[in-house]
Formats: sequence, C-alpha cells, structure tokens
Amino acid sequence: MLLSTSRRVLAPFERRFVNPTATNDKVLKPDHGSQRKHFIFTDEHEDLRESMQSWVLKECAPHAEEWEDKLWPDSILKRAGELGYIGLCFPEEYGGQGGDYYYSLIRGECLSYSRSGGFNMGFVVQSDMVLPPIEMLGTEDIKQRYLVPGIKGEKIGSLGITEPGAGSDVAGIRTTARRDGDEYVINGSKMFITNGARADFIVLVTKTNPDARHDGITLFVVDLKDDEGNNVPGFSVSRKLEKMGMHASDTAELAFEDVRVPAENMLGEEGKGFYHISWELQGERLVGAVGSVSGAERCFEKTLEYAKEREAFGRPIGNFQVIRHKFAEMATKIEVAKQMVYMTAWRFNNGEYPVREITQAKLYASRIACEVIDECIQIHGGYGYMKEYDVERAYRDARLNRIGAGTDEVMLEVIGRSYGI
Ligand SMILES: Cc1cc2nc3c(=O)[nH]c(=O)nc-3n(C[C@H](O)[C@H](O)[C@H](O)COP(=O)(O)OP(=O)(O)OC[C@H]3O[C@@H](n4cnc5c(N)ncnc54)[C@H](O)[C@@H]3O)c2cc1C
Repeated sequence: MLLSTSRRVLAPFERRFVNPTATNDKVLKPDHGSQRKHFIFTDEHEDLRESMQSWVLKECAPHAEEWEDKLWPDSILKRAGELGYIGLCFPEEYGGQGGDYYYSLIRGECLSYSRSGGFNMGFVVQSDMVLPPIEMLGTEDIKQRYLVPGIKGEKIGSLGITEPGAGSDVAGIRTTARRDGDEYVINGSKMFITNGARADFIVLVTKTNPDARHDGITLFVVDLKDDEGNNVPGFSVSRKLEKMGMHASDTAELAFEDVRVPAENMLGEEGKGFYHISWELQGERLVGAVGSVSGAERCFEKTLEYAKEREAFGRPIGNFQVIRHKFAEMATKIEVAKQMVYMTAWRFNNGEYPVREITQAKLYASRIACEVIDECIQIHGGYGYMKEYDVERAYRDARLNRIGAGTDEVMLEVIGRSYGI
C-alpha cells in the first residue's frame, strides 16, 4: 500500500506531481539551506574537510596579516606534513595517505579559509605541482630523497619552468643541461619561481638539446641547498621579487651557473620533458581552479554578512534589489564554476585525461573569481578598499590566477586548438 506523500520521502518522479496549492505539510519547500554533500565526496572526504578546515582556521588564518609582511614560515608546512595534509594523495609506502584525487580538491577548498592566497600557493606548489611529477616519474632513489621528506614538509620544493625570456612559450626556454660524465651541468635562469628563495630543491625544466624545441626538453630534480642549508655551488637567488599580491609567498628569480647535478636526478626520459611538464600543468591548473572557486566563495560569504549588517538609507544594503541581484549573479557564477571543477575532477579521478575541460575550468574559475571579488569590493564600498578587510587582499591575490599556470590567452588557445582549428 502506498504511504501518503506527507509521511514519506518523495521519489524524484513524484515530486513533479505535488500540487503546489495543497495544504502546507504537503507542499515542497525550496531547500536553500541544504548541506547535502556532493556525490563525488564520501563521508571520509567530509571528515577530512572538517579536520583540515578547523586546522586552517585555528593555526593559519590568525597569522594571515603577519605572513603578508614576513612570508609564511617553513614550520607551518612541516606542521601540515605531520598532520598528513601534504601526503593525502600519495602512496602510503612514501608516507602518504593513499587517497584519491578528491582529497586534493578538499585540501584546496580548506586552504581558502587561511585568508592568505600566498600561503595557499606555496602549499599547493609543494603538494600539487612539485611532488606529483616526482611520484609519477622519479626513480625509487629520487622518491626516497625528495618525495618522502617533501610529504613530511621537511624539504620544500619549487618548480622552475618560466624564464626571463620565456613563459607561455615553454619550448622557448634557454636553460641548458649539458652531459659531462655521470653528471649534467646546468646554466641559465628561472623567473617568478614560487618558494624559490626558500626551496631546498627544484623540479627544473631544461634543454638537453638547445637546438630542438619541444623534443629538446628534459626535467631534473636539482638540490638548491646543501646539508648545512647553504646554496649549492653555482646556484644563487638573483632577486626576491616584489608583487601586487600573494605577499605571503616568496617569488624569486634564480640563477644557475655550472650547477652540477648527478645524471640519476633526471626526472622521466631525456627529451620528453615537455610532455611530462604538460601533464604536471594539468594538476596545476585544476588545483588553481579549485583555489579560484573557493576563494570567490569565501569572499561571497564575508560580503553577504557585510550586506546584511551595513545600513544605508535606513535599511541593510543587501535589501536593495540591485545589491541582491549582484549576490544572485555571483552565486550563480560560483556554482557553475564549482560544478565544472567537480565534474572535471570526477573524470580525472576516473582515469581520464580531460585536458580541454581542465583548461576550461581553469579559465572560467579564475575569471569569475576576479569578477566576484571585484563585485565584493564594490558592495563593501570604501571599506572594500581598506587593507583591514579581507576582500582587498583577495582582490590582489586572485588576479594572479588569470596569469599563473598559463594565461587566459593560452587557455583559450588550448581550448580552441582542441577542436582541430
Ligand atoms: C606570482 C607568480 C608566481 C609564479 N610562480 C611560478 C612558478 O612557481 N614556477 C614557474 O615556472 N612559473 C611561475 N610563474 C610564471 C607564470 O606561470 C608565467 O608568468 C605565465 O606562464 C606567463 O608567462 P610570462 O609571464 O612570461 O608571459 P608571456 O608568455 O610573455 O605573455 C605575455 C602576454 O602575451 C600573451 N601571449 C603569449 N603567448 C600567446 C599566444 N600564443 N597567443 C595569445 N597571447 C599570447 C599572454 O597571454 C600574456 O598576456 C609565476 C608567476 C607569477 C606572477
């Protein structure tokens, strides 16, 4: 016998037939406050979200202002390593947790509570850019020397692709690695390197055949410091760079002058570095998209609170229709970008290599983050322009996302070319 609709949960097909004029207890109400988790996440994922978010709120967020002035301290990455947050997606045999890709997604979302884009960037350079190619391409010896301490946060890594004369055009790099017996000798310079001044080692993109473009590129893991913490011979930090935003993160120009690296520190195959780094860039772009969406979401939340409290002309500013519509636009953009990221992550996690979709997600998420945060500043009025309000910092930090890990224009090229034109 069928139960009456008021006494049981309605099946989706039945919902369409509910009479909206029926008595109150039979009317379906909009579920605006639903906390239902997304289908890609399990209870275990949500457990991580709870614990990591509370760690970020407790041990990172209170230091956001201090880190803007002094950079985030190495000790916080070590702490993250102790808590298992760097190794979430790496195999247990190397000290990781053996989790799927969704753990990385949740980590990116949790980091958005830190109030420090610069810290988040330094963290994900380690967890999602430097260590994955080492795990994927490194020999057992390389994994023991860099992946294991990297997961513990005891060694900090950086990624060296960009050069003063070549950013988007990766095949145009000029840093060379010349074979000399059992070693390679590295000469050249790298630009805009995150964690560059503090890093113990770097995943370095070089040319082993300077006359070739894509097929002349080879990756190496290069020590930047010796056991005493001094720069290795031939390596120097040419400049610590001043930036518009991401002040908590160090960004450096690096110089390599006859730096010797053992041949066994090659990552992957000689001449295949372009294809290896193209794979790395997919993870970098997806985590960038996650950061953009969740950064926008945090600003939305703070601005919503503000719009409910701030009064003008005798009422909360959120009650003006024009402001309400701004929230409606922002929420819709955030939701579209989030679903795009989740669906792409779902495909990635299921073994696909969805380069077009990753590129679209990165492009769209970073664009809407800039639009949303700009609107949040507008809603804050003059206060939005003040450093004491998080939206001011978020605005400067978010702008990088349309440049780093590939510019908007390069993303459009990748997407456009994927259609064979
Ligand atoms: C704060 C910060 C941190 C960074 N961290 C790192 C890091 O850790 N490691 C690293 O290797 N790099 C890092 N980068 C570098 C970043 O990835 C590059 O800045 C980015 O890839 C763009 O390269 P570029 O700056 O040389 O610009 P260019 O390549 O010179 O581009 C300049 C302009 O020309 C456009 N353009 C270029 N080619 C095309 C084309 N084919 N079609 C249409 N337009 C085009 C670009 O879109 C852009 O608008 C960082 C950058 C910043 C600012």
